[in-house]
Amino acid sequence: MKIEAASLGPFETNAYLLSSDDGKECIVIDAPQGAAAKLLPLIKDRGLKLTHLLLTHGHWDHMCEAHAFAAAGAKVLAHRADRELIENIEAYKDRYLAMLPELSDADFKSVKVTTWLEEGSTFVAAGKAFETRHVPGHCPGSLLFSCASEQVAFCGDAIFRGSVGRTDLPNGNWNELLTSIRTRIYTLPNETVLYPGHGGRTTVGHEKQTNPYAKP
Ligand SMILES: [Zn+2]
Ligand SMILES: [Zn+2]
Repeated sequence: MKIEAASLGPFETNAYLLSSDDGKECIVIDAPQGAAAKLLPLIKDRGLKLTHLLLTHGHWDHMCEAHAFAAAGAKVLAHRADRELIENIEAYKDRYLAMLPELSDADFKSVKVTTWLEEGSTFVAAGKAFETRHVPGHCPGSLLFSCASEQVAFCGDAIFRGSVGRTDLPNGNWNELLTSIRTRIYTLPNETVLYPGHGGRTTVGHEKQTNPYAKP
């Protein structure tokens, strides 16, 4: 499986494009502002079939262009706890506009989720088996997508290289985040490469040893 990252939008949010080894299918993880313009032409040029869009959580900067990937044929997968944020993004417009006044109506389009995932949900995408872990704390519907055969996991804003997700946003919870990291991220094999929602990649072992916020 080939993994490509693009850091996009006002918060430099990572979108990931994962392509199958046979070069036929692909999936996208998260849909920040600019992701559709960047990735959809690439997917088309390469003749890839886009099958899924996985959402790590419902915050605007990770899902605002999900509608464009759904329109391009992707099944949208997310956690039900973030249903309002994802399927009724218009209701949160004022809150986001207060932070980013330069946004326009076009930046607020809801998307219908095809399948709700929960802790332990499994699925096959880009030719590989994935396992879902529910990692709330930064956001109630935060998910981690683990692909054991590739020793990689996509962890959204739960943990970053040398840091962890904020818990001061609405419905954030510090104790819940620490529990998620300790019981559902630090229990992955040490060599697992973590691809976060912002910044560069790291490994489970590196964070267990050095992360100043989340000790094992
Ligand atoms: Zn977030
Ligand atoms: Zn984020």
